[in-house]
Formats: sequence, structure tokens, C-alpha cells
Amino acid sequence: MLVFPASAQQANQQWHYTMDVDPAAKIVHVGLELSGKLPDTIILKMPTWTTGYYQFMNFGKSLSAFSATDRAGKVLDFKQQDQNTWKVAVPKNKTVVLKYNIEAIRNFVGGNYLDTAHGYFSPAGLFLYADKNILQPVTVTVKQYPGWTHIATGMDVVGKDSSTFKAPDFDVLYDSPILMGKLEKLPGFKVNGIQHDFIGYKMGEFDRQPFMDDMKKIVESGSAIIGEIPYKHYTFLGVGPGGGGIEHLNSASVAFFNKGLKTQAEKMRLYSFLAHEYFHTYNVKRIRPIELGPFDYEKGNKTEMLWVSEGFTVYYEYLIIRRAGLTNAQEMIGQLRGNLLNYENKPGHLFQSATQASLETWSDGPNGRVADEFNKTISYYDKGPVLGLMLDLKIRHETQNRKSLDDVMRKLYYTYFKKLKRGFTPQEFRQACEEEAGVPLSELFEYAATVKEVNYHPYFAYAGLDIDDNWKKQPGAWSGITAGIKNDAIQVTDVQYQSPAWNSGLRINNKIVSIDGQPATLEALKAIAANKKDGDIVTMGIVKNGQPGEAKITLGTQNARSFEIKPIANPDALQSAIYKSIFEAGK
Ligand SMILES: [Zn+2]
Repeated sequence: MLVFPASAQQANQQWHYTMDVDPAAKIVHVGLELSGKLPDTIILKMPTWTTGYYQFMNFGKSLSAFSATDRAGKVLDFKQQDQNTWKVAVPKNKTVVLKYNIEAIRNFVGGNYLDTAHGYFSPAGLFLYADKNILQPVTVTVKQYPGWTHIATGMDVVGKDSSTFKAPDFDVLYDSPILMGKLEKLPGFKVNGIQHDFIGYKMGEFDRQPFMDDMKKIVESGSAIIGEIPYKHYTFLGVGPGGGGIEHLNSASVAFFNKGLKTQAEKMRLYSFLAHEYFHTYNVKRIRPIELGPFDYEKGNKTEMLWVSEGFTVYYEYLIIRRAGLTNAQEMIGQLRGNLLNYENKPGHLFQSATQASLETWSDGPNGRVADEFNKTISYYDKGPVLGLMLDLKIRHETQNRKSLDDVMRKLYYTYFKKLKRGFTPQEFRQACEEEAGVPLSELFEYAATVKEVNYHPYFAYAGLDIDDNWKKQPGAWSGITAGIKNDAIQVTDVQYQSPAWNSGLRINNKIVSIDGQPATLEALKAIAANKKDGDIVTMGIVKNGQPGEAKITLGTQNARSFEIKPIANPDALQSAIYKSIFEAGK
């Protein structure tokens, strides 16, 4: 006999949510009806974060006007225990009706936002879950607002009612954002018989059909890496102008607004971004570190492997659009070099490894480290893709180009997601890589886990590429200041860490009012490089934290590396084959 006590209990409770938007007030009225086998008291929690955005959002602070009754309208006792927790006394008739409001004012892919023409909602910021009952199935009825045209979400609809949706558990609910309003649906397409849609708000001016033809190529190229499509339908949700994207199980929320989409640079940026969010449906949503599921919506889930989940997704966005024929080899090399420069030319790579950056992202993010400490961080979005490329090169070299990073991704997908139905540990990830390579990969994993200086030469040489990592003295006198005009004043927008300006005490957001006794101008600031020399002292009148002050800058000479990547003169057959496989889409 088989007994499933947990699921039996969950199936014995019914959870039904309703949501009704009030665009003028920027408020969502949320209702929750609970019935079935309820405990005597129920503890409800609002998540503190939403998956895919590794920062605490503390959604509970947007909740107000909480009330609890039974189905007959009798008021129930409840207590708010902390910002995110409510404890409700369940009556004898075992029906509970909760109502509350959610303020929707944050126009962001990980927030809730409402205006008169559309609304975008992250369900982790809307719907309470019962403590320790994440596996509870749930239905949601979204009341359409008069005059609005669409409700879009990755959730399945219930029956024929196009405004009621179901989720088998709260992980799926929280991973299915809702976009509604006066939306436009672009011409969809099928890949392997599976429907893919793109629906959005205020998407801008561009030719719809060619764009969707390219999107189809991206989905074909991305899904071909693993060889099967793990969802029943997929929707890109264009949330309007803004920045950023968040991946979900069978959808992606993307800030999306285009002015023409005519230049190759514009297209490359957009297609890279969309390929990234799309490939996450494999890498991170299914091919995932063991820590990233089941989720802890209260404390967050920390992992040292975002350099793989995010970083390799960046590497794959480049591969996907290259294989889709949307970029050329030179552009792809340029993208990777851009990532490499982003960390090699900044001091953070001397302080923080890719694994540390992954673990510490919760405190390093926009609300985390500031000022000097920020210089001690790197982005796994930069070092991750370069490590991905190096791993791909190494595996191809060791196997005479018979195996690649694609084989590692497939192995992780079929072994851990499909067969074992769990994520992998860092050791299991390394083991999968070493099995495909057929050799130990100590050096690569040391580069991931430490700040050891990377010797790129052997890796790039596997594809017949040379990389120029020589330090070269840069022409002109060096201060390390970048500045712009803000509110009619010259404001420092960046100071290179431990540059002459840095050592003088100048910092970002300081104002420069004078240079050597003359009123400061951007021209005068720029002229320093040409008109002064190493060792000269420049005195600047500055305003720092509202206080007037002075910075005495002893100019220096900057040493920098170009990391230019060029093909070698006479590659051998294996080098040529590896180059073609990676940078020429195998052609
Ligand atoms: Zn990502």
C-alpha cells in the first residue's frame, strides 16, 4: 500500500484567489477563499523575494487593509506577526475569506505595477502562501478591467474561462507573472508543434513579422541545444519600456520597447537579451543548482553557482543567436571580449571570485555594497560567460572536438532534471564537466573559485585564437576621472579605483568647481590628459557631500591591457575545427 499523507492533505484544501485592479488608485484588491480540511489556525506569509531576482523585495510592505471573515461574513481573529506574516483563526465551519490590498507602483519585471492602460504583477508580490504548504494547488480569477484587451500569463486556463487560471503549486504560481491591459499580440509561431507567443504593452515601432521570424530562429536554435522542449506553451511578456528581464518556467518577462530595430547593433543587443531569457527555461529553471528549488520564499536560496546559471546563459545567448545566423563570428568574439574587459579592467577581479560573487549577490546588488566596497565585487554575468567559453574550448580540445559544453548541459538536463528530479551540487556539476572532457579540470575550477590571474592563452589557442594581454602604457597624463554635466555642474560619474584621482579622495557624485584656480569646464578636464604629464599636480576645487573641499591629484601613467582577440596565422586542423564549431555555428 502506498500512502501520500502530504499530498492528500493538500488536495483536501481548496485555495481560490481573485484579483481586481483599481488603476486610478494603483491598488490591486486581492481575495482568497479557503475551504476544505483547514487546520485550527493558519499562518500565511508574503514572500520576501521572487525567483530569478536574487534580492530581497519584502513584498509584505505593499500589503494593507487585511481582513478575515468566514463565508457567512463573521469576522475572524487574526494577528500580523511581522511584516510578512499573518496568523488567522479558522472557524468551525472551516471557511476563510481573506481580503487585502496590494500597492502596485514599482514598474519593474520583479515588482507590481498598474497604470490606466496596463498592469504587470509578480505573483510572489500578490499572493500569500501557507507556511510549509508550498505544494498546495491554487486557482486565480483575474477580473478584466473595462476597456482592456488581454490577460497574459504562463499559467494554464481552467476550462473555457479565459480569466481563471490554475497552478499545481505555489512554485508555479510565483513563477507565472500576469500582464494585462491594452496589449498587442504579435504573430505567434510553433516549434516542434509547441505554440510560442509574444504579447506586450507599448512595444514601439518595428516590423512585427521579421522580428517574430527571428524569434522563431532563436527558439529553434536554443531548444536544439537540449533536443526537447519541456513546456506545453511559451509566452514572452513585453512589459513596456524600462530595463531588465526575468525568466520563468514557460514565460519570460522582458522590458521591451523598440525604436525601429533597424541597425545590427540594436538587433544584436535585443536578440542576445531575448535569447538569454529564453535559454533560462533550460539553464536555471530546469538545469539548476541544488539550492535553487524547492524555494524558500522567506530566507532566499543562496548558491555559489550563479556563474553557471547566469554566466553560462550569457555564453549561450551568444551561441544561440550566432547559430541562428543573427550575428557573425566577429560580433560574437566582440561580445565575449566585452565581458572579459568588464572584469579584467576593474579591481573587483582581484578581490572576488565567480563563486563568491554568486553567493554574495544578495548583499552586492543595487541595495547592497556601496562606494569603496563596490570596487571589490565582480559580476558573474561577465566572468561566467568567459569561463563558459574556456570550458567549451577545453572540452572540445581534449575530445578532438567530439564533445562540447552542449554535452554537459544535456547531461545535466537528462540526469538531474529528468531522471533524479533535483538540482546538482557543485561537485556533481564539476564531475559532469570532467566526464565530458575526459580529463581533470582543476585549473578551470580554480579560476571559478579563486581570484587567481587567468592565463587565457592556452584556452584561446585551442580555437586558433591569440589574445593580447600585455600591459601597455597608455598615452597622456592619467587622472582616472570620468565626469559629465548634471544640473549645470560638473559631476564625477566614475573614479577608477586606486587611480590618482581616487588616491586624492575624489569619489563618484562629487562636483568639480575649479581646476587649478580656473572655473571647471568639461573641456578643461579633458585637456589635462594632453596638456599635463606624469608627476604633475592638478588642484581641483570640489564639493563632496555638500561640503566644499579640495583634491590635489598627482597625475600618473595608466597601464592597461587591450585583450584583443585575433586568429593566429596557421591554425592546425583541430584548431580550425574548434573555431568553426563555436564561432561559425559549426559550418
Ligand atoms: Zn539571466
